[in-house]
Amino acid sequence: MRSYTGKLIRINLSQGKSQIEDVPEALMKSFLGGRGMAAKYLYDELKPGVEPLGGDNKLIFMMGPLGATTAMSVSRMALVTKSPLTGTIAKSIMGGNFGAYLKFAGFDGIIVEGKAEKPTYIHIDKDGIHILDAGELWGLDTQQTHAKLRESHGKNTQVACIGPAGEKLVRYGIVISDRRCGGRTGVGTVMGAKKLKAIAVNSTGPLSLYDAEGFKKIAQGIIAELKTSPRRIKMSDFGTSYLTLGFEKMGIFPVKNFQEGHLEDVEKIGEEEFAKIKTKNDGCYGCMTKCGQVRQVTEGEYAGAVSEGPDYETIWSLGGNLANTELASLIAADSLCDKLGLDTVSAGNSIGFACELFQRGIITKKDTDGLELKWGDHGTMMKLVEKIAQREGFGQLLGEGTRRAAEKIGKGAEDYAMQVKGLELPAYEPRAVKGYGLIFATSNIGANHMYGRPREDLAGTTDRFADEGKGKDIARAQIGQAVEDSVIQCSFGPVTGLNPESRSQILVAATGFEEFGDPAYLNQIGERILCLERSFNVREGFNRKDDTLPKRMLTEPLENAGPATGQVFRKLDTLLDEYYDALGYTRQGIPSAEKLKQLGLE
Ligand code: SF4
Repeated sequence: MRSYTGKLIRINLSQGKSQIEDVPEALMKSFLGGRGMAAKYLYDELKPGVEPLGGDNKLIFMMGPLGATTAMSVSRMALVTKSPLTGTIAKSIMGGNFGAYLKFAGFDGIIVEGKAEKPTYIHIDKDGIHILDAGELWGLDTQQTHAKLRESHGKNTQVACIGPAGEKLVRYGIVISDRRCGGRTGVGTVMGAKKLKAIAVNSTGPLSLYDAEGFKKIAQGIIAELKTSPRRIKMSDFGTSYLTLGFEKMGIFPVKNFQEGHLEDVEKIGEEEFAKIKTKNDGCYGCMTKCGQVRQVTEGEYAGAVSEGPDYETIWSLGGNLANTELASLIAADSLCDKLGLDTVSAGNSIGFACELFQRGIITKKDTDGLELKWGDHGTMMKLVEKIAQREGFGQLLGEGTRRAAEKIGKGAEDYAMQVKGLELPAYEPRAVKGYGLIFATSNIGANHMYGRPREDLAGTTDRFADEGKGKDIARAQIGQAVEDSVIQCSFGPVTGLNPESRSQILVAATGFEEFGDPAYLNQIGERILCLERSFNVREGFNRKDDTLPKRMLTEPLENAGPATGQVFRKLDTLLDEYYDALGYTRQGIPSAEKLKQLGLE
């Protein structure tokens, strides 16, 4: 009796067949769950060079060993595939209820293979796994899709679906469950390429635990402490919106496509302003914090717009990055992206890229369907979001992501594409937090803020501007993130109440695997996952040359960014050497034979 169900569903859409497989115990012990187990399946089953939008790519949904239990904020789900945006391994972590209910249905994960001939959806219930026609769902937005599936299968149906953006193969389509997204790296685009509109689950449990009494005791102790935790309560009250004003002051909040670090009137999009129109909290299964802030615009041109957000990343991507401080437009644009199934970070970053090209005269109204692109123009932003998702006119180009768009535009446009390995940068100015810069440069999925956090740099216990001496810390942060994404625990530190020791104890109570009782054992799993993901990329031809940052970060001192003004990446090569040394990779960024052996990956 363990908290793993020990079963997964394999669906081949080309053949219209499904089967149930056992999950080997050795896999659980070596890769833990979620991101780790999914990465192992992908590495083993995908041939190098597979086209991400072809039938040979696979899309893997995987839960962790604590998912669907009564522990706090541990029921998120990993989505892993080969990314259509980067060509690297991709991972995105999705919240909501879908994953927990998949476990209640008796499955740790789903591997989707092949490509359906026509729009399809999958329904899982007590009678089995059904591959069904999605003709009526294709073209619907994500909210309509949820509603339609609940109409067909009952109001308790849990859904993970894509919107028009994923169907139309915008390279940064998302998978969404209610209002929680598997947002980055184009996982929804892979689902769209497979003509898979949705997966719906009906289930009622129960879930087993190895030591139910021991588990309950640990979980309840943590919950009692969490109830009064001020940091957790702040997350509940404001979500991540409280980060904006503080980060802007520190010069971390990028403005106008990373041209500077100060946003005029930033207070208009601070957390107190958002709190004025909050209607309720929402969030993931088994989370007492429910950081999602449901907000409704009541007046003005966006009256009626409702979204569960925007979070800090989206306040930046559709706000500060575009010099847009019209709060209501952020609610409307966030909601529109969710309905259309578009990653807000890549969408906002792509629009910022286009605005800068327009500012510099590299593109004109002739290229933009007659639109004049101006900083702060939220009306044009809304039009561009729609055009990107529908792949219409200029939106077709922006839907390719900034790297491909820049290649097509030419005229030096690549200097203004803020991306690493093809994935658009998130809401942290790398020159103002060098640790983040090193994370973005080395991340195996491209520039992503959920591939480790430079906690010491952000807390001020290390010098965030230092040009060297960060390699070990960043390697450790990425290893830690790999463990979190495999448990899968929420990465908002204060909400789970877990520390390395209590996490180990609760994992043993849930799974019965004594090995998990040693935090060092879990760290080694994290390092193994990181190394495996890098090995996946090496097999695809990636190496040190790809571990870099946009030219702007390496050559232009940061402007107008308070204490971070004048910062630039002077010694990326030194930082890379430190990072590779810390992980036992060669100076080409390739895991050494000795390291692979040490991690059991030979
Ligand atoms: S804090 Fe937010 S993201 Fe984390 S588990 Fe809770 S609702 Fe989900």
